[in-house]
Amino acid sequence: MIQTDLLVIGSGAGGLSAAVTAAHLGLRVLVAEKDAQYGGTTAWSGGWMWIPRNPLAVEAGIVEDIETPLSYLRHELGDQFDEARARTYLEHGPRMVDFFRRYTALQFIDGNAIPDFHGRTPDAALGGRSLCAAPFDGRRLGRQIDRLKPPLRETTLWGMGIASGVELRHFMNAMRSVASFRYVAGKVLCYWRDQLQYGRGMRLVNGNALVAGLAASAFERGVEIRTNSPARRLLVEDGRVVGAVLGGPDGDLEVRASRGVVLACGGFPFDVERKKAWLPHAPSGHEHWSAASRGNTGDGLRMGEAIGAALNGQLAQAAALAPVSLVPRADGSFAHFPHLIERAKPGLIAVTADGKRFTNEADSYHDFVRGMLAAVPAGRPVEAWLVCDHAFIRRYGLGAAKPAPMPLGRLVSNGYLKRGATPAELARLCGIDPDALAQTVQRYNQMARAGRDEDFAKGETPYNRVQGDAASGWPNPCMAPLEQGPFYAVKIVPGSLGTFAGLCVDAQARVLDSHDQPIAGLYAGGNDMASMMGGHYPSGGITLGPAMTFGYLAAHHAAGQPLLADAQEPRIQPSYA
Ligand SMILES: Cc1cc2nc3c(=O)[nH]c(=O)nc-3n(C[C@H](O)[C@H](O)[C@H](O)COP(=O)(O)OP(=O)(O)OC[C@H]3O[C@@H](n4cnc5c(N)ncnc54)[C@H](O)[C@@H]3O)c2cc1C
Repeated sequence: MIQTDLLVIGSGAGGLSAAVTAAHLGLRVLVAEKDAQYGGTTAWSGGWMWIPRNPLAVEAGIVEDIETPLSYLRHELGDQFDEARARTYLEHGPRMVDFFRRYTALQFIDGNAIPDFHGRTPDAALGGRSLCAAPFDGRRLGRQIDRLKPPLRETTLWGMGIASGVELRHFMNAMRSVASFRYVAGKVLCYWRDQLQYGRGMRLVNGNALVAGLAASAFERGVEIRTNSPARRLLVEDGRVVGAVLGGPDGDLEVRASRGVVLACGGFPFDVERKKAWLPHAPSGHEHWSAASRGNTGDGLRMGEAIGAALNGQLAQAAALAPVSLVPRADGSFAHFPHLIERAKPGLIAVTADGKRFTNEADSYHDFVRGMLAAVPAGRPVEAWLVCDHAFIRRYGLGAAKPAPMPLGRLVSNGYLKRGATPAELARLCGIDPDALAQTVQRYNQMARAGRDEDFAKGETPYNRVQGDAASGWPNPCMAPLEQGPFYAVKIVPGSLGTFAGLCVDAQARVLDSHDQPIAGLYAGGNDMASMMGGHYPSGGITLGPAMTFGYLAAHHAAGQPLLADAQEPRIQPSYA
């Protein structure tokens, strides 16, 4: 038996945010992680957080009243809008960032030029509401870096993470700009030097940097992250959660936690029964290929439910949808590759088997999949193809296929990429209607030359345009004709970045029972909480932002510490200047 103050189950952003804050507030904290490595899906993520009014935006002169993002959420979420949670989030998100910046190893970079997804919704912002984990020097983790989950290999270059934003643009431009070539060469050299010295890259970026920054801060405060330790069930005494039973190589272990337990197991992306119940496009529970971490099998939801917690599956969408392609691996398995970057670039279209476009390819991954689900007739498998020409794939890549000079041959020979001399030949290889695809390409090319998508208004929102390529030379940054053969396609299927439906919680992340009463000693974090966005997706970073903020809030509640009010100085002595 182990005695601690707070037991955190799961080591993604939801769990580690609570763990670091609680340890900083003086609690003894144990983190139990089922996997052999810590970090979960968070370690694979872009590391972006949607935090309106965050300190980095304010320092850049972007100041907005809380009512403005609140109004954006009110319009976006409709009948799913929960004002208490939304207000709490918008009030405390900036304080959470302030806390981590001041006192922990986790630092941030701004995303001040990133617009909200839906520029036509009232009070959408053109920027100033996003931030990302700053790159992190992995050497700071010492030997603990060996247990950090590396980024999803297929999203990296030989295992080297590429930071989104400016750095990614340098990588895409490496063959056409001397400055970009130099930048990339420098990063690649450092990476191989680290490989020789440490056996892995030490410059951590994106979600890997987020987890590393949180984990380093946890270790510095004496928190143990116990890997290979799946939580099996909660312990309840007199109506209060007092700990949990963990499995492990040496058998079951009882952990008693005087201040309670945080469930942060990453939702249900690999729970077949829950997917069957909550994802209409996955009637057998298998027709959904999440890009999330495979260990996220709905354990938190099940453990909560077993002791009377209420679940909310009635959201606009139960998952954070994303188009995914299945990349064959040498061992016969498939990586689930999320298409987050290239869809908005000029020179790509998405079609269903009938050879027709069905949505604005430059919209968010979530909206794109909603369009795909609506376009495929009932009873047919939900699938589509991203189609581009040779110039596009060499310039921007396509899914797991990287831009030039990286070779394409292996991905063509293993069937991931289809290649045809003409659109019609490509269509035949994919099982798409060849005449229809040829017509679609012809019409699209005319519209691209004119710079206007008369069918789906591609390139007409600030978000579309930021995701496109203003330097392409075409009048619309998201459109270019597909004309230089050979032509390529990759098949996409519905997947997700994580799940939205989950445990009902209040504004302090306390788990609620079926009478809307908090269950004493039980909190939920990250995707184990039913999303405060109600299954809508108003902007990038709306899972990690709330995961970080509500973890911070749950820790304050568990520690019995009042929350800071505006303009109040932190009462804790800074350990980081
Ligand atoms: C490629 C990609 C990019 C993304 N980019 C972004 C982004 O930029 N911004 C954003 O907001 N979101 C992004 N997301 C989504 C985001 O990463 C997830 O929503 C988020 O990481 C979920 O955090 P979490 O703490 O709930 O779960 P996770 O980070 O998945 O952590 C959950 C952990 O719990 C562990 N666990 C499960 N069951 C048990 C058990 N019984 N006992 C102990 N441990 C258990 C798991 O092994 C896992 O390590 C992205 C996702 C992907 C795949």
